[in-house]
Amino acid sequence: QIQRALRSLSIPLERLHIMKGHMMQDMCKGLSRQTHAQAKVRMLPTFICSTPNGTEKGNFLVVELCQSQVRTVLVTLYGDGNMSPHMMYKIFELPEGITQGEGEALFDFIAQCVSQFLAETFSSDTNSSEQRLPLGFVFPFSCQQTQLDKAELLSWSKGFNCSGVVGKDVVQMLQLAINKQQLAHVEVVALMNDTVGTLMTCSTEGRPCEVAIVADKGSNSCFMAEAFLVEITEETSGRMCVNTEWGCFGDDGTLNDVFTPYDESVDVESSNPGEKRFEKMVGTLYLGEIVRHALIALTAEKAIFSGTNTAVLKEKGVFTMQHLLDIINNEDGITDVRRILEVLGLQANERDCGRVQQICRAVVGRAATLHATGLAAILSYMCQTRDIESLMVNVGMEGELAMGYPRFEEILLSVSRLLSPECMATVLPSKDGSGRGAAMVTAVALRLAAQRRAVDEVLAPLRFSLADLEKVQALMKAEMERGLCKETNANASVRMLPTYVTHTPDGTERGDFLALDLGGTNFRVLVVRVTEDGITMASEIYVIPAAIMQGTGEELFDHIIDCIIDFQTKQNLVTQMLPLGFTFSFPCQQVGLDKALLLTWTKGFSASGCVGQDVVQLLREAAKRKRHLGMQVVALVNDTVGTMMACGYDDPKCEIGLIVGTGTNACYMEEMKNVGTVEGDQGRMCINMEWGAFGDNGCLDYLFTHFDQVVDETTINPGKQRFEKLISGMYLGEIVRQILMAMTEKQLLFQGKPSPKLQTKDIFKTKFLSTIELSNGLALRQIRAILNELEIDATFEDCVLMKEVCQTVSLRAAQLCAAGMAAVVEKMRENRGLDQLTVTVGVDGTLYKLHPRFSDNLQKTLKELAPKCNVTFLLSEDGSGKGAALVAAVANRTANAME
Ligand code: ADP
Ligand code: MG
Repeated sequence: QIQRALRSLSIPLERLHIMKGHMMQDMCKGLSRQTHAQAKVRMLPTFICSTPNGTEKGNFLVVELCQSQVRTVLVTLYGDGNMSPHMMYKIFELPEGITQGEGEALFDFIAQCVSQFLAETFSSDTNSSEQRLPLGFVFPFSCQQTQLDKAELLSWSKGFNCSGVVGKDVVQMLQLAINKQQLAHVEVVALMNDTVGTLMTCSTEGRPCEVAIVADKGSNSCFMAEAFLVEITEETSGRMCVNTEWGCFGDDGTLNDVFTPYDESVDVESSNPGEKRFEKMVGTLYLGEIVRHALIALTAEKAIFSGTNTAVLKEKGVFTMQHLLDIINNEDGITDVRRILEVLGLQANERDCGRVQQICRAVVGRAATLHATGLAAILSYMCQTRDIESLMVNVGMEGELAMGYPRFEEILLSVSRLLSPECMATVLPSKDGSGRGAAMVTAVALRLAAQRRAVDEVLAPLRFSLADLEKVQALMKAEMERGLCKETNANASVRMLPTYVTHTPDGTERGDFLALDLGGTNFRVLVVRVTEDGITMASEIYVIPAAIMQGTGEELFDHIIDCIIDFQTKQNLVTQMLPLGFTFSFPCQQVGLDKALLLTWTKGFSASGCVGQDVVQLLREAAKRKRHLGMQVVALVNDTVGTMMACGYDDPKCEIGLIVGTGTNACYMEEMKNVGTVEGDQGRMCINMEWGAFGDNGCLDYLFTHFDQVVDETTINPGKQRFEKLISGMYLGEIVRQILMAMTEKQLLFQGKPSPKLQTKDIFKTKFLSTIELSNGLALRQIRAILNELEIDATFEDCVLMKEVCQTVSLRAAQLCAAGMAAVVEKMRENRGLDQLTVTVGVDGTLYKLHPRFSDNLQKTLKELAPKCNVTFLLSEDGSGKGAALVAAVANRTANAME
């Protein structure tokens, strides 16, 4: 009979494996938004997103509500790695009946304890009552927390049942009670349960503790989970400590087959039958009861205590945990066991004593094994969700069972290792988790708040309100008007260049057209066939040797004609005379659709004899020299205009072009009567804004940050293209790099250790912003890969902060772009005297196309800034090829129409 009892109390390994699996499933259920409310293992978010790093310092007050006491603790941290905090305690007994009375009375009592404790502790030091004193509140009941300092009580337990508290914010209740005591300088900044405190005490510098187990009267655990998995909170970056509330594991029946009749009896006699099934197998509040029921059963079966009076076994609670531990820990003989039983009123012979000891060992050993199974579930879950092959982790532990039962740690480690061989846990026993740990939580909360303030201070100048953006919009509008007006054009930062493109495609264009694309990444020749059924294209990339780029203008344009002849020959187009659109991506002063003076070469070109010349003429002369008659240059096209035209063919409402790539620029259809720099008042003309130079006259100086100044100074054109330098792909990575360096210097990143590589110009690519901003918890590995490349040793929290920096910089870029665009669409709307304008923007550029948030941010901001405009963005394909051909096609159509 004894053997049968012992067997029922030992759970085979295969069964533990299954149990671990169930626990992991329940953890997922608790974290998922859909199933959280019904989940037995609640997985409550704690809003604690960091563990101590040892720099915390100052005075922290802790109040802990215990079973029958209120404990007050004053902890002083010295910023020394939390190695030797100074602590002062005082314990107050709870008055009779208060745990069943009114909630307000309970909180008033707690506040009185605080008041009395402070009066005694600070009696000699009068000043300190003026200083703000942060308080951490340890409240070991199940709460739905929505912030670190906001938590609604879900239900009382452990014999508490005060009225008017369930569903209320207990932090607020405590703060109000404290304020009544004239202690307004005491501020409740954090609420936590004891498990979280344990996790926090065990963390010291360079050794974070990420799991904690409290094996005490009840049982619970917590661990650092990836924040994005905690679906019921908004938090998506970083990690958050989750309070598992695993005591309720098994309440849906998953533990029924391991429940013994003794467990059933304990459950039935408890105040909450059917609930907290796991806790009732492992909590020290219950272990003595399990033993008692086992002994009752064995006595009835006459397997033990025969012939003695066992009436005492009917008394609930006769076996305390201390009795069990004394019985178990008594290795040398049974005299002490007999003495303990005798004190309880049980006459035991030698065999009885041995059997009682065996039963006690089985019950307590089982409790340790079940804790190990729960731990294994947490470890495997962490390992899986962090997408790593093996996990090394520190586990803090505390509680009567953990500390009093010498084999607890050994069982915890060996069993969890069997169940989760991929994980390696190290146990760190915690001393006074709820006192010291609560102080740590409070201190970490304040450290994070201070860090947050410092980060915000750095990033604040890059963050814009709607009013800030409206001001940029107004400035852009003013600059546009200055640029359009003949008298002020010379001093405007936005050049507003006429393009002599007067119509966008209407879909009736037909024919074959040539296009040249010079000045982009490749030199290309294209043929674009516009038919009733749509557009088809063929193209060829040609190389321009460096010697020709830097030779004479004649050589350059002769080479271009050679390429065209080669292309037309290959395409069987030599016999026709084709209209040609020429995308020439260099700064030009256009004086006609087919007449443009080169202002200066860029991008490595320096062919002599071209600056100041009409490039269309240069191309025509070369054709003449080569006796090539198969083409007729009809238009010189800027790539922004090409972008608008390419989209305009698909969408007649497309009257704006936008580029956000290496640089940024925009064009739009303006009323001729507003274009002071070109004769004539009829119709419209496309204006190449050259908005990248917005602000070059100083009108944006007020919004440049220190980082923008530094980036500008290190470019080849300081003081020029200032708007572009806030927005486009060539610069965003550099701005981020400057911020990262400044934050490192302020000790906000990388432990203040600068990486030599990060000092290198252009090492932080704009495409990194896309990767980093796209990453969620799992993909933080990709951030790590980028950082490895930069030889930066980053913690998890560094990665989270880097992501915020990238988001801030790319958001600002999108918002400024939107402010510029808002000025354009609003001007068009006003020009046309419309209440509502519907218009399409043709867009090109890799930053716009590949950045995960840029286009959304741009469109959202534009809606706010120009609510009367209904703007659609259409991605353009090949503005400089197809678009240039369409400029030629439209010119052809309108010329024919005139005839
Ligand atoms: P261009 O403007 O010269 O025609 P693109 O439109 O291709 O060229 O833009 C190139 C710019 O796009 C580069 O400055 C680069 O920093 C940026 N870029 C490249 N890849 C990405 C990406 N994945 N996310 C954001 N920006 C990118
Ligand atoms: Mg481009």
